Amino acid sequence: MNLEFLAPYFLGPYGENNDIFEKVLMELLRDHIYWRRNIHPEDLPSISTFASQEPEYQEAVAKMRAELHKLTASLKQSVPFFSPRYIGHMCSDLMMPGLIAQMVTTLYNPNNVSFEAATVTVDLELKVGKQFAQMFGFNTDEASVPCAWGHLTSGGTVANYESLWNFRAAKYYPIALAEAAKKLAIELPESKVLQSKLTEASVWKLTNLSIDKVLELKAETEDSIKAVDDQLLPSFLEYVEQERIETLGSAYFLTRHIGLKQPLVLVPSSAHYSWQKAMRVMGFGSDQLIKIPVHSNMRLDINALKTVLDSALSKNIPILSCVGVLGTTEFGTIDPTHEIIRLRNEYRAEGLEFYTHIDAAWGGYLASMFRQEDGTEVSHESIKEKFSYFPSEEVYQSIISIKEVDSVTIDPHKLGYLPFGAGGFISRNQEISQLLTQEAPYVFEDNDVTSHPASQQFEKLGQYILEGSKPGSMAAAAYVTHQVLPLNQNNFGRVIRQSIKTAEYFYDKLLELKERLKDRATLCLPYTPDTNLICIAINPLGNQSLANLNTFTKQVYNKLKISRDSSPRNQEFIGSSTHLLRKNVSDHHAKELCQMLGINADYYVKKVKDSSTDSDRIMLLRHTIMNPWLVSDNDGTDYVTKYCKYLEELITNNINNEFNTAMIRKAQAV
Ligand SMILES: *Cc1c(COP(=O)(O)O)cnc(C)c1O
Repeated sequence: MNLEFLAPYFLGPYGENNDIFEKVLMELLRDHIYWRRNIHPEDLPSISTFASQEPEYQEAVAKMRAELHKLTASLKQSVPFFSPRYIGHMCSDLMMPGLIAQMVTTLYNPNNVSFEAATVTVDLELKVGKQFAQMFGFNTDEASVPCAWGHLTSGGTVANYESLWNFRAAKYYPIALAEAAKKLAIELPESKVLQSKLTEASVWKLTNLSIDKVLELKAETEDSIKAVDDQLLPSFLEYVEQERIETLGSAYFLTRHIGLKQPLVLVPSSAHYSWQKAMRVMGFGSDQLIKIPVHSNMRLDINALKTVLDSALSKNIPILSCVGVLGTTEFGTIDPTHEIIRLRNEYRAEGLEFYTHIDAAWGGYLASMFRQEDGTEVSHESIKEKFSYFPSEEVYQSIISIKEVDSVTIDPHKLGYLPFGAGGFISRNQEISQLLTQEAPYVFEDNDVTSHPASQQFEKLGQYILEGSKPGSMAAAAYVTHQVLPLNQNNFGRVIRQSIKTAEYFYDKLLELKERLKDRATLCLPYTPDTNLICIAINPLGNQSLANLNTFTKQVYNKLKISRDSSPRNQEFIGSSTHLLRKNVSDHHAKELCQMLGINADYYVKKVKDSSTDSDRIMLLRHTIMNPWLVSDNDGTDYVTKYCKYLEELITNNINNEFNTAMIRKAQAV
């Protein structure tokens, strides 16, 4: 495949771009030194030129150098993510523009907690937020409402926490409004949003309003109060703060409102474990995280979601959020955003409101292939032309529908090819930030917060997000990358396209391997990949025991995994593994999988009875196809082909070892 277009953007597995990397870095480093000298050129050096002649100085420098050399020597045991022999986790060679931007910006050490500590990079961070919002199709024109905003986090985990933190603020705000209105004890007109008096609305009604309606209700109520008496507003807002769940704590808040039950958060069973953590961090309790089963394609089962929604509606259980995953961590599959939105609208009409979040930590950048340079969507036909399989109708609809959800998580340190430390959170309606700030708006000098451009409203970034001090260097890295390669199909989208094309090639090669192995082992793809993550299951021919399959796969995987006993440099290839838990697949899918693999379906169980045959999981080899150089062909074979050959060798050798021969013979006898 032609990879020329990628050449300028990476340091390269061989350090091919070392000259340009060094040159630019050196230039910018010197440039930084001049900057220091030119802040106040009249200031004399603080460190005297004689200092370096002191023995103590020399000792300290020697120590520093020794330790730094020790560090880099030990770092040689690092995982070689840049190498096309690495197809394990969600990391690869890094993009040079971002890498250099991050390294250089670190010298200036901006703190993106606020403008005062980051006069340049806070603005860049907010611009990156807009770039993401535009890629997903949200409105970013300040003149119309709702307008999206976004910012960076340390990673996808914190962005996921932030979605629940935002949602809780909106979900319970109307109750606080109603309580505050009762305390104020003045006659308010009927609310247009509620079509009843605020103080007479039921708890159920108040906790089932969309985010936009909550904000409307807030504005409407404040206007009504101002109309009665301008002077009342500050004390009203203080009452509201006193009555909020964030002030009272969940336990006390719930006991004060009879009939209000604990809220549920719905995720697919394939969701990242950060959702479990998020429920604990938020104090909702992980029991309130409901895992919706997935279909045989490892996507959220929309009928199962419907069942949960029906049950919640009939029992008056509030649902805080339904989360869809765009690119699951284990399987790379894509939940049907469009179907989630359809159900959201259906249940909204029935009076059950839930907020929608898309966890696109892994797959978020795929959206760059769906956006044209002028900001419009690319048609399904036109995307399909460039691939053999991608994207299915479902995947296309799902990605195109992201613009309808309330918020999105995206990880620049995954498919954005940036160094670790960069996640992102994007919110469809920036006005939700009014519910997040610690201080009530009336303490600001200028009451009319919304009349500021977003860049000024959000310049005290730390007020609106979970984190405090945070590196401006990550914002610089993301910004520069997106300037060099804008988030549309002809720029960043091209890089992502290559990764999907490579994954398709990998998929085809696996089918060839399956054919080559068929008289020795069954190689099976347990689901059709939606993106660039591909898992396989392997069973030696004749074996019916799932326990044996897992032992066998583990033996193969031991040659592919990073461990403390061997140096990464001694490994031919580095992969990763995952499991298909029985409890996460339907009965039908479980049977199907066993049939494909030649395993006795009775051995794939939720609870293990006989550990010599049973298991509650199927072990899979997992491959992340994001390295740009996997199909580079410099000696006649690309790395995908090399890997498939290597895997064939591992599987064959493993079948032939004594232990397994015995195991298989025994299994055949059963
Ligand atoms: C990676 C990932 C996360 C967590 O992101 P971190 O950056 O590791 O904190 C969350 N959700 C999904 C789907 C992921 O792939």
